[in-house]
Amino acid sequence: MKVFIATKNAHKLVEFERILKPFGFTVISEKDLKDGFPEVEETGTTFEENAVLKAKKGLEITNQISIADDSGLCVDYLDGAPGVYSARYADEHGNDDANNSKLLSELKGLPKEKRTARYVSVIACVFPDGKQFTVRGECEGYIDDKLNGNGGFGYDPLFISEIGCFGLVSPEQKDSVSHRGKALRLFKEEIKKYL
Ligand code: IMP
Repeated sequence: MKVFIATKNAHKLVEFERILKPFGFTVISEKDLKDGFPEVEETGTTFEENAVLKAKKGLEITNQISIADDSGLCVDYLDGAPGVYSARYADEHGNDDANNSKLLSELKGLPKEKRTARYVSVIACVFPDGKQFTVRGECEGYIDDKLNGNGGFGYDPLFISEIGCFGLVSPEQKDSVSHRGKALRLFKEEIKKYL
């Protein structure tokens, strides 16, 4: 089955492809579009709303079943921030280094037990006949007080999960416990009900 992945984030796309291809999906992406995929303004206040906005843009452009992830890091001490604003936490969209520096300084001096956080990924799937659904994956962990390794992307060098820091584990290990891995496995089951 052909599925369009509505994202401009090359790191997310790699994860989508890695996880979905073994399930037999034919992944298409902005690399297959003459004009690429546009930046979609994320005007929603929830992961669900923003994921649906991006997936609908994918459907509009390709007329194929489209999926999109809206994801982020929710830190308990910061009342859930940066949350849906994770990509632009330090104001400049997608500047991972600036986002990580800001997070480190916000949590400076806090003991480990107060640094708990979770990654959230909501995947929206929209169909040409108007049907749609969302699934949510979460991954619990805490924020370290220093950067570790250079694996993954975004906040991964700071995020310590049950299997270790996402900046240090292999891509396959990350997929096995990550928010996106969990959401994509739920997506694979849910989509069967719609076909
Ligand atoms: P979105 O593109 O609006 O969904 O923003 C997602 C942002 O959340 C990314 O730019 C990262 O800052 C953060 N994020 C989401 N998933 C991950 C992940 O798996 N690793 C590291 N950062 C992530």
